[in-house]
Amino acid sequence: MPKRRPDHIPTRTCAVCRASRPKREMLRIVRATDGSIQRDETGRLPGRGTYICQEPSCRDPERSAIAIRRALGSEAATEMLNLEVNDAAT
Ligand SMILES: [Zn+2]
Repeated sequence: MPKRRPDHIPTRTCAVCRASRPKREMLRIVRATDGSIQRDETGRLPGRGTYICQEPSCRDPERSAIAIRRALGSEAATEMLNLEVNDAAT
């Protein structure tokens, strides 16, 4: 049975630019069970999730709102999500 490589890095696709990047560099956006769109700081919130990378152009509220609506099927008040806040220090 093949062993999983210990240096394997899980990646996710950015909903905005479609680039594949390490999961830890991505911000997860989740549609919670009540239908609201939330920033998922822990990566563990239940619900349907999508990811947005750190590119400033992908954190643009208008572009990310379109991408989130496409990915999760819900309107997102992205200006309430503080997407432009740098979360790289986690
Ligand atoms: Zn991106």
